[in-house]
Amino acid sequence: MEKLSNPQVTIDIIKKYNFAFQKRFGQNFLIDGHVVEKIISSADITRDDTVLEIGPGIGTMTQYLAEAAGQVYAVEIDKNLPIILEETLADYNNVTVINDDILKVDIEKLTEGKPIKVVANLPYYITTPIIMGLFEKHIPATSITVMVQKEVAQRMQAAPGSKDYGALSLAVQYYAAPYIVANVPPNCFMPRPNVGSAVIRLTCYDKPPVEVENETLMFKLIRAAFNQRRKTLQNALNNSSELNVTKEQVVNALRALELSETVRGETLSLEQFAHLSDLLG
Ligand code: SAM
Repeated sequence: MEKLSNPQVTIDIIKKYNFAFQKRFGQNFLIDGHVVEKIISSADITRDDTVLEIGPGIGTMTQYLAEAAGQVYAVEIDKNLPIILEETLADYNNVTVINDDILKVDIEKLTEGKPIKVVANLPYYITTPIIMGLFEKHIPATSITVMVQKEVAQRMQAAPGSKDYGALSLAVQYYAAPYIVANVPPNCFMPRPNVGSAVIRLTCYDKPPVEVENETLMFKLIRAAFNQRRKTLQNALNNSSELNVTKEQVVNALRALELSETVRGETLSLEQFAHLSDLLG
């Protein structure tokens, strides 16, 4: 069939199945072939690749993925979409559609432990839980190329000291190298979202760029530091209910790191948080 990235083809399919867009599932379907091609090329998909697509919708990007990849697994939560996908993906025999919630799927079992590339136009309401879930479950992903809200992409890529820098930047940059590939305006989607979007590629590390003895403690420190952004790091850590550190321990650790007692968390690099964690551990 003709590609769904042609807006008229999308309109015809939506009408044929009387499909009603579900806001609660973050449904904004792509209707721009150039954007889809840009996502596929920056994800660097070849016939040797197994791809996990999160939220195929009516299959717009899946059609391109099926043509580029060896095998595609597409996980879609909406019960009304598999019947449509049967028609829109009928030309391809290398796509498996799973009608389930991505947060509940055992991805490693589904993809038989093979290395995978994740590609998605993500539902914006659960972008962070999806991305963090992929990292924390240590699925064997080599890269994650996703459309997200522009502001979220900026936060993922932000460097220490910038206004967008925060717990999400540090969490993402512990697992992957982020690179914003393109900004995408609302008119590339149906219906149009209220926010700007961006494609970001996260190239996953085999091993984190910093060594830390206790990852859990480091992420607790990071959360505490950014929960109280306007406080000094020292006060934020001492006031956190998640942590159990004395003022003296924090002062000593800051001194060992050659940081001022009035330093704020938002200026610390991932490496400095890792050192701080080792000193307080
Ligand atoms: N990939 C399609 C495209 O680009 O046109 C649709 C993208 S749309 C932004 C997000 C898709 O994710 C929707 O089809 C939605 O139903 C699906 N979705 C939302 N929450 C999900 C979840 N928890 N698990 C799997 N799919 C989900």
